[in-house]
Amino acid sequence: MGKFMTKELHEECGVFGVFGVPNAATLTYYGLHALQHRGQEGCGIVSSDPVGGFDRVRGQGLVTEVFNEAKLATLKGSQAIGHVRYTTCGGSGEENLQPFLFHHATGDFAMAHNGNIVNASLLRKHLESKGSLFHSTSDSEVLAHLIKKEVRDPKAPRIYAIIEALNMLEGSFAFLVMTQNRIYACRDKYGLRPLSIGKLDGGGWVVSSETCAFEVVGAQFVRDVAPGEIVTIDDEGLRSSDYSQFKRHFMCGMEYVYFARPDSDIEGTNVHTFRKESGRLLYREAPVEADIVVGVPDSSLSAAMGYAEASGIPYEMGLIKNKYIGRTFIQPSQELREKGVRMKLSSVSSIVSGKRVVLIDDSIVRGTTSKRIVGMLREAGAVEVHVRIASPPFKYPCFYGVDTSNVEELISAKMDVEDVCKQIGADSLAFLSPESLLKSGNRQELCMACFNGVYPTELY
Ligand code: SF4
Repeated sequence: MGKFMTKELHEECGVFGVFGVPNAATLTYYGLHALQHRGQEGCGIVSSDPVGGFDRVRGQGLVTEVFNEAKLATLKGSQAIGHVRYTTCGGSGEENLQPFLFHHATGDFAMAHNGNIVNASLLRKHLESKGSLFHSTSDSEVLAHLIKKEVRDPKAPRIYAIIEALNMLEGSFAFLVMTQNRIYACRDKYGLRPLSIGKLDGGGWVVSSETCAFEVVGAQFVRDVAPGEIVTIDDEGLRSSDYSQFKRHFMCGMEYVYFARPDSDIEGTNVHTFRKESGRLLYREAPVEADIVVGVPDSSLSAAMGYAEASGIPYEMGLIKNKYIGRTFIQPSQELREKGVRMKLSSVSSIVSGKRVVLIDDSIVRGTTSKRIVGMLREAGAVEVHVRIASPPFKYPCFYGVDTSNVEELISAKMDVEDVCKQIGADSLAFLSPESLLKSGNRQELCMACFNGVYPTELY
């Protein structure tokens, strides 16, 4: 997407897998479509059947742009894994599109990854020095080489190789590894990225980065993959192994705040419910007198509802988002933008004119989007704009697969709340406290490194 269009934070990818149904690739297509918000740059599906081997289709663009019926028909077999990608690591070239497919003497396998391996370059150097040849610049390929290289007994079941390999990785991951008759679903021991398992009505299994994809394919939620766990899915059903005894629950706080779809449940908490509660707590911490509450669509609407409910100030649709902007959309030129052509968000003057507005947003990263939205509301006639942010100030970079851009660009890393308020042109500004963020999901732990600089893993 062009610069004008970008939200300041980017989701980092989504994975989806299907086991044990005819035309597994078609279900994977629907699953990936439900995960499209996690990555719009490219996508792919690899399918496999016990006799015919592996088939793969991948390409740049949205799921609906990359796949059609003819392409799906080439993906045969009763098991498949898929991936939607936003580039956080490695380049955006076709060779970096997942799932990756590897040919090996011990059997071919495919792999899809969501997250970021923080010791990838160290491991890569080590592997290259031992003769590994990498096909892509993606950190995810490191796991595949480890699975192939580090196996001590080539005749041992594949899972031992996967366990050894996962123990060498540091960082965040939800991995799907597919062999000709099995899918392995693995989650990092810190629990940074979500991964859930569902059962299909009529038999078969699905694995997904988010539970919102289960409804679409007719699956019932079974359970989350636990931190440090590998779930093996094959004809015998589900089997669990732990690759690590160290287990924490540092789920990425931004999954709840912004990335995940509101209809997903993450580790037992519905995302909309979490956001609504954060809005309620935000009102308790930072009340303000105003006429209407307006949320920035889509991710801030739940928090805005919570703020409105707690304050008794009516919730109004003061901003509208145009959702039908694909990757190939022609961006307005600078000249047209100056003339007021706005494609993504519009303010509704008949609603905000003459009103004191509480504007709820999920986060402020660089501050440019907030400044533009505050300006837009004022142009539409708002007499006051009080900004309330449903997460703490974003001050530190993320090393776990979220594109936070350059640390120098993080406005709260350079300025205190008062200066940020001036910079974005608001009448007042307040952020949710880290304590209330935890309380929103009734959680003891969350990764909040981008807010407090406390990183749950080693950094290399
Ligand atoms: S640093 Fe922030 S964005 Fe990154 S995993 Fe932690 S909470 Fe999520």
